[in-house]
Amino acid sequence: MLILAATPIGNLGDASPRVREALANANIIVAEDTRTTKHLLNALGVTTNAKLIALHEHNEVAKAADIVRLAQDSDVVMVSDAGMPGISDPGYVVVRTAHEFGVAVTVIPGPSAAIAALAASGLPTDRFAFEGFIPRKGQSKYFASLAREPRTLIFYESPHRLTDTLVAARDSFGPDRLATVVRELSKIYEEIVRGTLAELAEKFAGENRGEIVLLVAGAEVVVMSLEDAVSDVVARVASGERLKEASRAVADATGIPGRDLYSAALTRSRDA
Ligand code: SAM
Repeated sequence: MLILAATPIGNLGDASPRVREALANANIIVAEDTRTTKHLLNALGVTTNAKLIALHEHNEVAKAADIVRLAQDSDVVMVSDAGMPGISDPGYVVVRTAHEFGVAVTVIPGPSAAIAALAASGLPTDRFAFEGFIPRKGQSKYFASLAREPRTLIFYESPHRLTDTLVAARDSFGPDRLATVVRELSKIYEEIVRGTLAELAEKFAGENRGEIVLLVAGAEVVVMSLEDAVSDVVARVASGERLKEASRAVADATGIPGRDLYSAALTRSRDA
């Protein structure tokens, strides 16, 4: 059987009795970094005769079938350096392969930074989208593509990029959008700061440290008919806004394509 096991993301006290037992009884432990997992086993006081096999993002595809074959005959416990394997960590390819080979898969639930941060964020938890790590390049374009997403967005981010990321997020999602920076969960310097993106960009300007989850509230969706949206554009133009800007603003709020609003508003003013 393939057993996915979540390990602590900071506080060793979060290692469940089940995960300790699974590690102690495993025939094979597949680890993202075998040294990190050996440290964890020592710190937890878990003694095991299990063979440790390294599985990282660069060899996951090549090793997946071998690992799954081992899991056909014995218990293979898969862990990452911290948190839930497969969540911005190696694991998915092995799990997919196990399903394809008909090998049983189970999971020992436990810490995952994304879910813990969401629960503590003070942002809506009913619907959310996990985006993993933010791309290093083209952040503004990337955020702009998410600006109308109505679900709470969850990102992993490095502390060194947090300042620039918050500025790009503020500019793409707007300064008033609510967000939360969650830092060092379950560790000594745990910090959970909720505010507008403008406030957070200011607060976290400069050097930052630790492990970080950034959460951004989803967009408020305004449901409007095309006719009403065009009236909104026309009213904005009448009060001095340029047609292009007015169309874009209403498009952002409603999801109706800006070019449709632009041409419909133009036709309506011509016909008036
Ligand atoms: N698989 C892990 C999980 O389930 O949370 C995530 C692994 S990913 C490689 C590591 C990223 O998770 C970090 O860069 C950070 O964004 C986030 N993270 C991990 N531990 C954290 C913690 N204690 N507090 C805040 N964020 C954390």
